[in-house]
Amino acid sequence: MDRPTNFFDTKIEFLKGVGPQKGALLNTELNIFTFGDLLQHYPFRYEDRTRFFRISELREEMAGAQIKGRLRTWEVIGEGHKARLVGQFSDGSGTMELTWFQGISFLEKSLHRDGQYIVYGKPTSFNGKFQIVHPEMDLLTAENEKGGYWQPVYNLTEKLRKRYVDAKAIAKWQRQVLELAGPHIRETLPSFLIEKYRLASKAQALWGIHAPENEQHIHQAKRRLKFEELFYNQLRLIKQKILRRTEYPGQVFQRTQLIRDFYEKHLPFDLTGAQKRVIREIFEDMRSGKQMNRLLQGDVGSGKTIVAFICMLLAIENEAQACLMAPTEILADQHFKGLLPFAEAMGLRMSKLTGSTPKKDRKVLHEGLLDGSIHIVVGTHALLEDIVQFKNLGLVVIDEQHRFGVAQRAKLWQKNEVIYPHILVMTATPIPRTLAMTLYGDLDLSQIDELPPGRKPIVTRWKSDQHRLEVFGFVRNELQKGRQIYIVYPLIEESEKLDFKDLMDGYESVVRAFPDYQISIVHGKMPAKDKDFEMQRFISRETMLMVATTVIEVGVNVPNASVMIIESAERFGLSQLHQLRGRVGRGADQSYCILMTGLKLSAETRTRMKVMTETNDGFVIADTDLRLRGPGDMAGTQQSGVVDLLLADLSKDGEILKAARESAQGILEEDPELVLPKNQAIRSQLDQIRENESNWARIS
Ligand code: ADP
Ligand code: MG
Repeated sequence: MDRPTNFFDTKIEFLKGVGPQKGALLNTELNIFTFGDLLQHYPFRYEDRTRFFRISELREEMAGAQIKGRLRTWEVIGEGHKARLVGQFSDGSGTMELTWFQGISFLEKSLHRDGQYIVYGKPTSFNGKFQIVHPEMDLLTAENEKGGYWQPVYNLTEKLRKRYVDAKAIAKWQRQVLELAGPHIRETLPSFLIEKYRLASKAQALWGIHAPENEQHIHQAKRRLKFEELFYNQLRLIKQKILRRTEYPGQVFQRTQLIRDFYEKHLPFDLTGAQKRVIREIFEDMRSGKQMNRLLQGDVGSGKTIVAFICMLLAIENEAQACLMAPTEILADQHFKGLLPFAEAMGLRMSKLTGSTPKKDRKVLHEGLLDGSIHIVVGTHALLEDIVQFKNLGLVVIDEQHRFGVAQRAKLWQKNEVIYPHILVMTATPIPRTLAMTLYGDLDLSQIDELPPGRKPIVTRWKSDQHRLEVFGFVRNELQKGRQIYIVYPLIEESEKLDFKDLMDGYESVVRAFPDYQISIVHGKMPAKDKDFEMQRFISRETMLMVATTVIEVGVNVPNASVMIIESAERFGLSQLHQLRGRVGRGADQSYCILMTGLKLSAETRTRMKVMTETNDGFVIADTDLRLRGPGDMAGTQQSGVVDLLLADLSKDGEILKAARESAQGILEEDPELVLPKNQAIRSQLDQIRENESNWARIS
């Protein structure tokens, strides 16, 4: 069998006090298999056991209090499953109650009458008297009487608690492992980084996180371990990026006459400063001789499409072709229609390929792509099919990244086997810089942080359901001015049936309220064909109101739609609300977004609604969203798997991330292969991480 090659690979069951049964539980409940796994099971908070409180000092606000005193008496009150054990506990300053609902017969046998105890728990006040429910109890000893420690609190499960594996047990095991580990603990960061950032050593940090003596100790430990975590995260991403740059050459696109013609004769507006800047960044890449992998991020309406088109011109003038892939047929259609006038003005041949492209058209298209007579193809997933081959694909633009996976990105690379095409990924999901660094750390990042001039900021209002009549009155007014209206309902999978009913009820009431207008309805259960049909009716103004679930979220552009009503807005995340709002405000008219909510709302929801009414800035919104919800829930991060950080919190540890990223960058620039002696620690740690990962792959 696999003999431990390394102290940290020792199976957890071999730790004194664990044994096979608890060991198996630790395996299944917490994924802890080895000593090393245990040490990586970090506490999520600490309880202050440094001092003792007197009963007279207790207050309801305390999260927890440690008290030294005497257990006077106890009795069982009530019967059957309502029975509880209530003890009287006093310390000279007063008396309080200790209450248990479980394990009563065991407690009755084991408690010591008049015994001196240290108890810990959350004090609550009941009938003017303080009590602690299910307190932690320890007999007073010469050792624990001194107090003075911080109790780490670990994630546990019910099953573990039933087997008396609690935070104290875990903490005790951590200490045992740390004591045994002594000489085996290897420093995983090079000494020049430890000195530069005044970091704790690995050994100090492990002791500090699991067995801290004071708050300072905890703080130092966390800072060091977070730095390490983020440093290796960034190092690996940047390494991939460098590898790709050196491994994969790119076509060199030099000539720019076509673009100059376009600027002079056909560009209908001046580019914004931000658009010019990102075009320069992209051109640098496309001239560099290395394959481009760049993320273009820009808020809804910031003008990413024209940027993409200008980059396509660069490819085309240099004897290459370009393709643009969108996540839905409607979006592909919109891009196609939007770009067609430009393509025609420039004398370029552009085609469209989606699931509904007829067979005979496909044949023509395939031929045109293969012989190079088609310059640009716009489409959906259909572009990924193997039969779609190009003469020389030079630029791939992918719109709305989070709908596509990494594998699909890779598939497009293969469309040019001689030399990989340059890749430009566009997304309107505002991602805070910190998150973008970890999420897309292997892509270069360009941001359009400026909207074209003359846009009227969308006016956002927050209304409770009681004001529906007033809102409908407003809608009627806008309809009379010829504007179109979206009304969006949430549709969350877990409560699909109820949501669906809400949507249908909503639709009915809209039909009743606006009998003289045509109304569209679109939801996820409709066949794609019907959805498209309804969308098209709305785009062509046959219908004036669109009642829909969030299927309209991404990219749809109907400039005449100037009002977005979001029903049950409390059920949407901030970024999603912002995306939805971005569907309006695309034309010259003043646009509105109305958030409808119930009355009973949490403080967090109120913050969300308030932020929406106060700002239109996608980055402010993304930052707030990250702060409120944590990175796990941000759009696009779910499947990525890059954000499973153990300790670091991207919403709070931006500074550490920055330092870690800069360090990683600097080290790899100087020593890409990590062969210098001073970088040995990094090299072996990377090997270790890789080995752990392959072990994990075997287990799961
Ligand atoms: P998004 O970044 O959301 O994809 P689009 O590319 O759809 O935004 O652009 C939104 C609208 O703004 C389009 O109608 C486009 O023609 C227009 N637009 C883009 N850039 C500018 C600019 N510099 N000045 C004025 N209008 C612009
Ligand atoms: Mg767009």
